[in-house]
Amino acid sequence: MIKFLDLKDQYYRIKGEIDSAIHDVIESSAFIGGKFVKDFEAAFAGLQGCRHCIGVANGTDAIEIAIEAMGLPRGSEIIVPANSFIATSEAVTRSGHRVVFCDCGPGNYTISVSDLAQKITPRTSAVIPVHLYGHPADMDEIIRIARSNNMKVIEDSAQAHCAEYRSRRVGSIGDMGIFSFYPGKNLGAYGDGGAIVTGNDALAAKCRMIANHGRIEKYNHEFEGRNSRLDGIQAAVLNVKMRHLEEWTEKRIALAARYHTNLRDCTEIVLPRCESWARHVYHLYVIRTRCRDELAQSLKNGGIETGIHYPIALPRLKAYQYLKTPISEMNAIAYDREILSLPMGDHLSMNDIDEISGRILDFFNNAATTSKDRY
Ligand SMILES: *Cc1c(COP(=O)(O)O)cnc(C)c1O
Repeated sequence: MIKFLDLKDQYYRIKGEIDSAIHDVIESSAFIGGKFVKDFEAAFAGLQGCRHCIGVANGTDAIEIAIEAMGLPRGSEIIVPANSFIATSEAVTRSGHRVVFCDCGPGNYTISVSDLAQKITPRTSAVIPVHLYGHPADMDEIIRIARSNNMKVIEDSAQAHCAEYRSRRVGSIGDMGIFSFYPGKNLGAYGDGGAIVTGNDALAAKCRMIANHGRIEKYNHEFEGRNSRLDGIQAAVLNVKMRHLEEWTEKRIALAARYHTNLRDCTEIVLPRCESWARHVYHLYVIRTRCRDELAQSLKNGGIETGIHYPIALPRLKAYQYLKTPISEMNAIAYDREILSLPMGDHLSMNDIDEISGRILDFFNNAATTSKDRY
């Protein structure tokens, strides 16, 4: 049995550190705010090379709060890639703006820069590129387009802790960046957690206030905010895990390289592309094949778990039918039937990757594939 994700295996490798960190939080009653959250914010800002980090309750809140802090005109359009988790677009609507979907590129699956330029109208106020699967979006181009159209840029880095665009860590390249610490992310808490990062002092101060009831001091509130705080136990868990993150990230990169070596001659699969300017941190290792469902079933029969991220591209969801997005030409729509996420994470060994790759090659050797299944 090869698991897609195994958080228990990871826990047992760092159990001593985790148990004592959680115990320390309880001993000091630092449940909300306090030392552990403060330490986390400083360490994570350092890790991502950002001036400010504000811990919040989850990644979705982080996007909503970042949008609110920017004070964009009410009802303005915000461009979001068609292939992402719904949180990205949901946060746009929740904060009173209109979602406009943009296609993803054919190479690394992040937002298509050419389609982005097409989707801009006089009502566009911002774009939220997603560093999807752990691969950075093409930030220089995105920022160039955004600046010449008076748009803000929020980097959805929920899947891209430690990823780099031209040697810069993601999150602080645009105006603001957001991260999620959902347990399955590359850096995951033991519950929900999220963070906003930025180099802008005023935006950082605004986000911190929005996330904490708009308060200046305990019972003095400058405006109505909300309650979205990272708690002490999650911060303490993240502080422990951050010490291992670089090693775990390098391991993901090495496992991905092994998949690549094993599978590169298979003409029925498109392997993930890592651009020359990117540090891809492989939150997900996503291949494409026209025999996706059959391959997934065959791997499952052999005890290998896989996933699909995401099986229904956002514009095809019932939730977004009202937008009437023209989807016929979109890569994101063509790909949602072909993408397959193979097991990836620090719970795996090189032998596991060889085993999975061998099963995939066997599948294509035995399957009655035709020329139209090849790329
Ligand atoms: C996980 C994720 C989010 C949301 O994070 P939560 O912490 O689950 O709210 C946002 N965007 C993307 C791309 C994600 O993968």
